[in-house]
Amino acid sequence: MLKIEHLGIAVKDLNASIDLYTQLLGTPCYKVEEVASEGVNTAFFMTGESKVELLQATTETSPIAKFIEKKGQGIHHIAFDVEDISAEMKRLEALGFELLNATPKNGADNKLVCFLHPKTTNGVLIELCQNKG
Ligand code: ZN
Repeated sequence: MLKIEHLGIAVKDLNASIDLYTQLLGTPCYKVEEVASEGVNTAFFMTGESKVELLQATTETSPIAKFIEKKGQGIHHIAFDVEDISAEMKRLEALGFELLNATPKNGADNKLVCFLHPKTTNGVLIELCQNKG
C-alpha cells in the first residue's frame, strides 16, 4: 500500500461540517460529490499528501446512517492508496481478510474501491482505493 489516501469521517450535517473543517484545516473543500449507490454525500479536503473525506447519509438505510445511529459522528474508515486494487484484494483475501465487495466498485473522487470487514481488522473499516486515472 502506498500511503493513507484519506480518512473518512461520518457527519450528520455536511454543510456545517464543511465550514468546520475549512476552519480546522485552513484549506477549502475542493469537491462535493454524491455517491448514490452508497447513499452518501461526500466532501473532500486536501491535507498535504492525504485527504479528509466527510460523509453524510442521504438515505436512512445508508451505511453512514447506521454508523451514526450506533456510534455517533466520528472516524468511519481509513483509506489506503493502492496501485493495483485487484491484486491487493487477492493478496488480502488469501491472508484471511474479509472483503465487503468481491469486485472493485466505483467510489467518490474518481476511485475504484473495496472495503475490508472491521471484524478482520481489529474493528477498523479499511478502504482500498486505486486512482482510475
Ligand atoms: Zn473513503
